[in-house]
Amino acid sequence: MINELLKFDREHIWHPYTSMLEPLPVYPVESALGVRLKLADGRELIDGMSSWWAAIHGYNHPALNEAITKQLAKMAHVMFGGITHQPAVELCRKLIEITPEALQKVFLSDSGSISVEVAVKMALQYQQAKGLKNKSRLLTIRSGYHGDTFGAMALCDPDTGMHSLFTDILAKHYFVEAPQCRFEEEWNPDDIVEMRASMEKHADKIAAVILEPIVQGAGGMRFYSPQYLVELRKLCDKHNVLLIFDEIATGFGRSGKLFACEHAGVTPDIMCIGKALTGGYMTLAATLATEDVAHTISSSEPGVFMHGPTFMGNPLACAVAKASLDLLDQYDWKAKVSAIEKQLKTELAPAANSPKVKNVRVLGAIGVVEMKEAVDMAVIQKNFVDAGVWIRPFGKLIYIMPPYIISSEDLSQLTKALINCTF
Ligand SMILES: *Cc1c(COP(=O)(O)O)cnc(C)c1O
Repeated sequence: MINELLKFDREHIWHPYTSMLEPLPVYPVESALGVRLKLADGRELIDGMSSWWAAIHGYNHPALNEAITKQLAKMAHVMFGGITHQPAVELCRKLIEITPEALQKVFLSDSGSISVEVAVKMALQYQQAKGLKNKSRLLTIRSGYHGDTFGAMALCDPDTGMHSLFTDILAKHYFVEAPQCRFEEEWNPDDIVEMRASMEKHADKIAAVILEPIVQGAGGMRFYSPQYLVELRKLCDKHNVLLIFDEIATGFGRSGKLFACEHAGVTPDIMCIGKALTGGYMTLAATLATEDVAHTISSSEPGVFMHGPTFMGNPLACAVAKASLDLLDQYDWKAKVSAIEKQLKTELAPAANSPKVKNVRVLGAIGVVEMKEAVDMAVIQKNFVDAGVWIRPFGKLIYIMPPYIISSEDLSQLTKALINCTF
């Protein structure tokens, strides 16, 4: 049975970023509960990935199961054009309540990449509505990641985002060096110099700046100084440039604050959220905007915002998202994340002694070990599975971001396995 399944998979099914000729092994997961993934052969793995930032409350959670089955009994889906429903309204009400005050309008979509496309479209329509048609490009920092669709890809780091493969079709945007000042370091005003220069030089062409606040995720797992965002907000205001925060990875507590922008006390004009929004149950994302952005777009030709996905506002996804946000209210996630942070700092520190390790860093419930060389995925993945943990590195980065509900014993298993593979 299992061999048959794996054979078909290998021959016919693409996995993220894989070859159809030499696919790396995949592991069949049969079920998942709490922080454990159960493999088809009966082995259990402690999950260190939260399924890419998403499963913050762990798997198969009774409250989330209940929310989604209750909604399923009413309706799985209905179109959002000309129709509304309670799950969408309740979710959006909650999102407006927990995100920065100025964000008052919500656009629901299917995935993080799409919410970025929507944010970019909003910024362009906004500037056109203001009569500033030349403001049609974006400015961003290197080492960023914003998704895999063409609009989002054009904003990813040019090297790791593989711009050269798609040069002819990718939109051309402005890039500056990523901030060098680390999260806990004293602010160095030199860090914003290149951003300021680019903004001053190209202000008449720039619609918006987009970046991941505080934590750059898939583009390098870097944590940078909150002061960068404070300075950037001033520059954007000065040059009539909108500020877009991509909180898709950082949102919902992962960095120690509910949203990473809270570390800086800075409010963006547009904000993208996704990943942990549904607690890892369904694909759902949202783009939030200020009153000013929404009203400006709506008060000028064509008078509407030009986007509307088929599965917009899917009721199952909205219902489980609302339940996930309610769960966050019900336990002290801040204390959990800060306990994880403390334990990661203590237990990952020894990795710094390995000659193969370049840097060890921790913020909130994110622990990163950066190696000097790229790891051998086939070997390291098997070692992790044999050690009873699910950790999936990429390139030189081995990192863990477990569900918030993980026990300190299980977290120790993860850090032990991680430390072992760095020597
Ligand atoms: C994952 C991610 C995206 C893309 O989200 P998808 O749901 O994979 O399309 C965009 N931005 C950031 C910061 C992300 O981490």
